[in-house]
Amino acid sequence: MRTRFTELFGIEHPLIQGGMQWVGRAELVAAVANAGALGHITALTQPTPEDLTREIARCRELTDRPFGVNLTILPSITPPPYMEYAQAIVEAGVPFVETAGNDPTTFLEIFKPAGIKVIHKATTVRHALKAQSLGVDAVSIDGFDCAGHPGEDDVPGLVLIPAAADKLDCVLIASGGIADARGLVAALALGADAVNMGTRFMCTAESPIHEQVKAHLVHADERMTQHIFRSFRNTARVARNKISEQVVEIEKAGGSFEDVRDLVSGQRGRLVYETGDTDAGIWSAGLSQALIHDVPTCQELVERIMTEAEEIIHTRLAGLVPA
Ligand code: NAD
Repeated sequence: MRTRFTELFGIEHPLIQGGMQWVGRAELVAAVANAGALGHITALTQPTPEDLTREIARCRELTDRPFGVNLTILPSITPPPYMEYAQAIVEAGVPFVETAGNDPTTFLEIFKPAGIKVIHKATTVRHALKAQSLGVDAVSIDGFDCAGHPGEDDVPGLVLIPAAADKLDCVLIASGGIADARGLVAALALGADAVNMGTRFMCTAESPIHEQVKAHLVHADERMTQHIFRSFRNTARVARNKISEQVVEIEKAGGSFEDVRDLVSGQRGRLVYETGDTDAGIWSAGLSQALIHDVPTCQELVERIMTEAEEIIHTRLAGLVPA
């Protein structure tokens, strides 16, 4: 399948594994790359910029194919040295970066002169237009169905993707709620050039998280996520569990971020992926978990999605319009 994304980025398939805190590590990213898709190491999963440099080197030992790094800028309990992470990315000679969470202007100033292609993830058309005007190579438009931070406008992909396609000229990636070939073909029909998947790649053989978390995702349906941080205007869609329900109760009672801080810390969420206890902390999951029924290798997943996408286009859709 050839799209503006595969042409501009030189990636075989129009499939992307975006940033995922604690999940986007070398094993997964290399497996995605070896399967012919674009994977991203999540920069802030690494405790220091030096660790990120080592993780990029480790990924290069596992694949000869290109991959990217995600750098997400959001409110943080301990704000990381973002610019030092950005410098580490440039010095490592990584060809692609996915920025997210905030205005990418200052980072573009160092990524673009280094020849890095930048995908900026945005949750609104106005932010997507701003990113395009700053010179990003692609916008990843992230609908309300997504895991993590969907913004505050609550516009699902079915409207957000074509609304973005109508206004943007740059390469457009559809993100949020996509986990299979139907999502890929639908996104292409809506005007996207590729799709980004997080939760689906979390639930693969090479994903470096506890098997019990993968089993949880296989069984979870579309009702088993929850929004936290609505009252702080930093909304995040997470797996619904004891902690997320407690956080929402505290918010409803008028609590501040300080009142939930210990419950929601990323360090605590990390325990979920390490121990397999899905109630140990806050962890991200998208509505697309309803469409996930197995734990394939990345190679199996990518092959399946591309084969089924061709079948949908050539058989099911073409069959609707007799020649
Ligand atoms: P953390 O422990 O610093 O914070 C936990 C959560 O609380 C995050 O969602 C954060 O945005 C939120 N938060 C922190 N301070 C806040 C405040 N004052 N008001 C409202 N919300 C607040 O985060 P972490 O899990 O260690 O992650 C480190 C960084 O990476 C954070 O900035 C986080 O948002 C970001 N992140 C990245 C990804 C990704 O896929 N790249 C995913 C999740 C989080």
